[in-house]
Amino acid sequence: PAVEEILDRLCATVPDYPKPGIVFKDLTPAFADAEGLRAIVDAIVAPFRGEFDLVAGIEARGFLLASAAAYATGTGVLTVRKAGKLPRETFTEEYALEYGTAALEVHTTDIPQGARVLVLDDVLATGGTTGAAVRLVDRCGGTVVGIGVVLELAALGGRDALAGQRVHSLQRLG
Ligand code: 5GP
Repeated sequence: PAVEEILDRLCATVPDYPKPGIVFKDLTPAFADAEGLRAIVDAIVAPFRGEFDLVAGIEARGFLLASAAAYATGTGVLTVRKAGKLPRETFTEEYALEYGTAALEVHTTDIPQGARVLVLDDVLATGGTTGAAVRLVDRCGGTVVGIGVVLELAALGGRDALAGQRVHSLQRLG
């Protein structure tokens, strides 16, 4: 089956999570399905095959995608972490949340200079999270070749916020 059909069947929709009025898309059943995981990983890397050396996954659900994608394509994997988790010198990039800010970090020396980097996460909403990851890769001396996400919540404008980047989503909602 096509990946869109798998996502229609296996992506759960959770109203009022994490707070009233938010409709949360939960991909854990799709990742837990053998056929689903393989279809998602194959489809998310497909447009970028041969064009990247390193896959950066955003904590935490992006780690699942990035590790599988790196293994499947013979590339390396990098964890883009929430602030305060990495033991050595880091770059930090803040991004806006609905209330306040959060930050992502990468070790300053973890990306080989000039490495071509594919950035992966499960869901693209406003693009704040992915945008921060892109800025981190740039500051580290890498080149972002593209952004891959499973679901794009189109009404939230993430694609426009990431103008200038190649954004590949497996399914666009709203
Ligand atoms: P953004 O920064 O683009 O507004 O939000 C994207 C980030 O929030 C991603 O890291 C993603 O995991 C998380 N996120 C936002 N909305 C959802 C959702 O409906 N489902 C899931 N699984 N994650 C979401």
